[in-house]
Amino acid sequence: MARCETCGNDYDKAFQVTMAGQAHTFDSFECAIHALAPVCAACGVRIAGHGLEKAGKIYCCAHCAEAKGVTELRDRA
Ligand SMILES: [Zn+2]
Ligand SMILES: [Zn+2]
Repeated sequence: MARCETCGNDYDKAFQVTMAGQAHTFDSFECAIHALAPVCAACGVRIAGHGLEKAGKIYCCAHCAEAKGVTELRDRA
């Protein structure tokens, strides 16, 4: 059985996420997000949805980007 990389749970419905050519195994999206999701450069929250990327930094929302002095970004739905 596949074992979750984050929590070690042995789960028959585990799934794999391939990132940068490497396969990772998780039992839940929560664990996948914990292991793989980028962190907002302003507030430190895990970005599970569409983030905003600027100059190599990633933000969870336009508000955070603005807080770091990035002004030309807009939230994309
Ligand atoms: Zn897990
Ligand atoms: Zn943020």
